[in-house]
Amino acid sequence: MKITRITTYRLPPRWLFLKIETDEGIAGWGEPVIEGRARTVEAAVHELAEYVIGQNPERINDLWQTLYRGGFYRGGPILMSAISGIDQALWDIKGKALGVPVYQLLGGLVRDKIKAYSWVGGDRPADVIAGIKTLREIGFDTFKLNGCEELGIIENSRQIDAAVATVAHIREAFGNGIEFGLDFHGRVSAPMARVLIKELEPHRPLFIEEPVLAEQAEYYARLAAQTHLPIAAGERMFSRFEFKRVLAEGGLAIVQPDLSHAGGITECYKIAAMAEAYDVAIAPHCPLGPIALASCLQLDFVARNAVLQEQSMGIHYNKGAELLDYILNPEDFKMEGGYFKPPVKPGLGVEINEALVIERSKNAPDWRNPLWRYPDGAVAEW
Ligand SMILES: [Mg+2]
Repeated sequence: MKITRITTYRLPPRWLFLKIETDEGIAGWGEPVIEGRARTVEAAVHELAEYVIGQNPERINDLWQTLYRGGFYRGGPILMSAISGIDQALWDIKGKALGVPVYQLLGGLVRDKIKAYSWVGGDRPADVIAGIKTLREIGFDTFKLNGCEELGIIENSRQIDAAVATVAHIREAFGNGIEFGLDFHGRVSAPMARVLIKELEPHRPLFIEEPVLAEQAEYYARLAAQTHLPIAAGERMFSRFEFKRVLAEGGLAIVQPDLSHAGGITECYKIAAMAEAYDVAIAPHCPLGPIALASCLQLDFVARNAVLQEQSMGIHYNKGAELLDYILNPEDFKMEGGYFKPPVKPGLGVEINEALVIERSKNAPDWRNPLWRYPDGAVAEW
């Protein structure tokens, strides 16, 4: 079998799909994207295509190493996201060629279902209680919300109290009937993370996510020494070689590699195995589309330390398309009681509605994340 063509499609709300075709008529789909920089990743995919076209898609390991090591400079969000999408499509082709889901090729199921959580609220913690009530009715009992708005490097007590009050209200309203993680989104400086985590502790969130940015990863171990709350991070880490450092330094209880950013299924399978050796859980990051989600599920069903799956249904920044709009088999991704079941179809398990993809790609918006500023005009983290 030989790879004949790679086609990319930028799509609403903020996604990028790729299709790899072969001379035997089997095609695979991948989702190579960095949110807000889809065109840059798209250019990287086409630049890398010369290493892929004409090659045998069955040799995923060799193609991955070629794409990674074949360039003197490697790593980072753009190149690794491009590799991720290509890798997903290669696994999709292999599964389809052999007539089995990808998890069968990785040793078979380690669990029967995987718990998913739902985002609740917008960027700003308001009306979350009403949101949780609605989502509970459709079966979710685990949620994630932003832990705070933008926070100064040194912040006043009013801002801290506001962040804690939202969380206190949620616990008060639902008791132990729900669980929720708090995503600090890298908005919090290292000094304020210490304060905020201490104040949030009595309300027992399931985990604290990105209490500081990946650039300040040395703080994960220091913060963990201060609190019993599990600390999660990893959506802005892009290979085994970055996860190696945080695992060795300790501090993280959950790593959150993104199957569309951290080297695809090939690399994230290895990251999961490394994490397992450190007794660290994984919860793949996935505020993306259906191919990214399907890739995450393939991993969740073979990694014993997978604990939770993020998914983007109803997520506040998806405007113009929903998670399952572009697939012909949404029933395979229907959740039961807040759990996903293993995808059943060969390959990644998504049947792409190609006609719709082509149609919607004609007017794809260029999504950007908001640019926030402090009251004094300086740039804040979103
Ligand atoms: Mg996050």
